Amino acid sequence: MSDIQTDIQAGMRELHRIHTEIQRVRTDLDRGPRQVRAKTRLVENKQAEIEQMRQKLLQTRKSADEKGLQLKSSEAKLHGLQVKLNQATSNREFDAVKGQMDADKMANSVFEDEILEALDKVDSLKANIEAAEKEKATLEADAKKFADQVSAVEGDRKAELARLEASLAVAEKIIPAGLISDYKRLVQVQGASALAPIENKACTSCMNVVTTQQGIDLRAGRFTFCRSCGRMLYQVD
Ligand SMILES: [Zn+2]
Repeated sequence: MSDIQTDIQAGMRELHRIHTEIQRVRTDLDRGPRQVRAKTRLVENKQAEIEQMRQKLLQTRKSADEKGLQLKSSEAKLHGLQVKLNQATSNREFDAVKGQMDADKMANSVFEDEILEALDKVDSLKANIEAAEKEKATLEADAKKFADQVSAVEGDRKAELARLEASLAVAEKIIPAGLISDYKRLVQVQGASALAPIENKACTSCMNVVTTQQGIDLRAGRFTFCRSCGRMLYQVD
């Protein structure tokens, strides 16, 4: 194998390695903020849930208060009826007042049940809100911790990316001037998979076997693209 072939093989391997590393670092850089956003959304959703329960709590309290007032006024009315009953001068009047009082007592007992039910609901809502507040605090702490971790490594990752991009510029010098635009286009679309090594005379990306001419070209240190998947091929020994 000639020196040129060895140089090209090593150069292409290095170029592919750098592309792969760049892709890995970029993926990490994208993933961090995305995960932070997802965790922030969990906090926001929990907050919305709490707001909803608070609204419900207000409504339930208001309804319990209203029923309490109705009960009070009904009890005052009953008290008045009791006086009337005591002063009844005929059986007919007595029965009429008594009937009214029984109906009012029945209505009041329904009110009382409803008020108790509403108060129970107030208690359970309060407990649920308290639990949700705790969950929210945990989610918030988790999101913050994660965001801190992400921003702590972000600087390192960006520096690593800058270093890799500088090495890429050097490694790309191996691509002949006539092929550079094809190469750039491929890389833009496919990233690190723009390049594929040949193994057992086949493109490792699509397993298509290279032609005899391509085999000759590769051995002569010339560049060739896979006829099936279009990737830039290189020989590894
Ligand atoms: Zn291929």
